[in-house]
Amino acid sequence: MKISTNNDLVILGGTFDPIHYGHLRAVEEVRQALKTAEVMLIPAGHPPHRKSPWAAAQHRLAMTRIAVAHHPRFAVSDLEVRREGPSYTVDTLRALRQERPDALLAMVIGMDAFLRFDTWRDWQQILELTHLIVTGRPGWPAAELPEALRQTLYQRRCDDINQLREQPAGFIFFQTITALEISATSIRSLLANSQSPRFLLPDEVLDYIESKGLYQSP
Ligand code: ATP
Repeated sequence: MKISTNNDLVILGGTFDPIHYGHLRAVEEVRQALKTAEVMLIPAGHPPHRKSPWAAAQHRLAMTRIAVAHHPRFAVSDLEVRREGPSYTVDTLRALRQERPDALLAMVIGMDAFLRFDTWRDWQQILELTHLIVTGRPGWPAAELPEALRQTLYQRRCDDINQLREQPAGFIFFQTITALEISATSIRSLLANSQSPRFLLPDEVLDYIESKGLYQSP
């Protein structure tokens, strides 16, 4: 079945604490590789996989919105920030899939996150709801995969991004992206040490951080 392209969505979830050019460039490259797709950025409310974010959800949501304000192909969802309790990706994808039953959904995750993907809640179900686009990231070589994940990869891997158009969900594709060795951790650390992270993230996001006095202590 060839699927409709109108509602196609490249999805990137993250703590975005703060959002930076590593995130933005990764999804932009995937969007272009998929040709017509739009991007949805979904800041996590209460991520189950890591210690609490440094900045409050409302600030992370605001920074994410500011980062893409001038880019109409990029939308920001407050779905996870509004939801009570921990943010589970599977719940978010169920909600998106209900809104777009036939659309191609392609969730981007970095290789670092993919190596732990089998610990995500209902991870097999996630693959029924979306394609997975695993992006290469500096400093995270593809190490040994857990057995269950290796088997799933064997069944679902595809080597041609155009194959993703054949069904709305279910493939795993590895996309090489421009390696930008930027992390939110390093940006927070620069700020905590009174150094500027300028040019690692959009100026408008940095202005917001400074105006709200975020990330000033480690
Ligand atoms: P932190 O340093 O606080 O852990 P982070 O910079 O890794 O944060 P997240 O919000 O945790 O950012 O990342 C969200 C998603 O973006 C993850 O899938 C992650 O792999 C990916 N990502 C983060 N930084 C980059 C980068 N520089 N290049 C490509 N992908 C990235």
